[in-house]
Amino acid sequence: MPPTDPASPLHLTELGPLREAVAGWRRAGESIVLVPTMGALHPGHLALVAHAKAIGRRAVVSIFVNPTQFGPSEDFSRYPRDVAADLALLAGAGADAAWTPDVAAMYPQGFSTRIEVAGLGEGLCGAYRPGHFSGVATVVTKLLNQVRPDIALFGEKDFQQLQVIRRAVRDLDLAVEIRGVPTIREADGLALSSRNRYLGPEERLVAPRLQAVLARIAAALGEGAEAGRLLQEGIRELEAAGFNPVQYLELRDAETLERVERPVRPARLLAAAYLGRTRLIDNVAV
Ligand code: AMP
Repeated sequence: MPPTDPASPLHLTELGPLREAVAGWRRAGESIVLVPTMGALHPGHLALVAHAKAIGRRAVVSIFVNPTQFGPSEDFSRYPRDVAADLALLAGAGADAAWTPDVAAMYPQGFSTRIEVAGLGEGLCGAYRPGHFSGVATVVTKLLNQVRPDIALFGEKDFQQLQVIRRAVRDLDLAVEIRGVPTIREADGLALSSRNRYLGPEERLVAPRLQAVLARIAAALGEGAEAGRLLQEGIRELEAAGFNPVQYLELRDAETLERVERPVRPARLLAAAYLGRTRLIDNVAV
């Protein structure tokens, strides 16, 4: 047998071997943390892996570009995929296993179950991406059942997704703890995203304005200003910078995601906007 690099994660593509590996770790009393991803890994993902290694013994990273969370006119077919590069990054990050199931194994002939998180999954991105959060909740429930981790980590970058998953896990009594991890950003404030590679050079210069507008509004809200006028001005500023369309810029309760006018309880300012063909999302705490 060729020597194996001790830093390489186990690369698991079938459910049986995945379950055997996890069962072995469990028998040894080791805790397991799952980081679900769609691959095209960047330092934002790797921060989740580092966090997983800091809080648990074994970090399992799933890589699955989930077709059911993409709309018919969205970027499923052109979504960046590079498993070899991802595996090299995961080795550097100290991940213990990469779980990369294929679509046919995840959704065998006759697959017919879906999880809907009503309310939380309907507004904001859900209004513009019908079926998206149902696709996310369904695939994440499957991943949680496949790996059975103690803890699963999700980025606050996708804040609505994090809240949808928290709710699904609570509602379905899934035996896992869901934790959010703060957004990792470029030096100029742009939230890292696999989709940033779609941005042209000019768009890349404009993209950080999204975070800048959110940060400025959040600061004003923190000083007691009302949301209505600030949000209208923010939308106009983003449009003037070249975002088109600005799908939403809204202040929501951080847990229920209901619209709020003032941040009495912890709130979240969330936005989604197109820059050319690229849809960017971001959010900040208020
Ligand atoms: P994705 O591959 O885009 O589905 O993302 C996989 C996980 O990484 C999700 O939980 C994301 O919220 C998280 N994530 C993506 N980008 C970032 C970022 N810039 N900072 C922190 N977490 C992120």
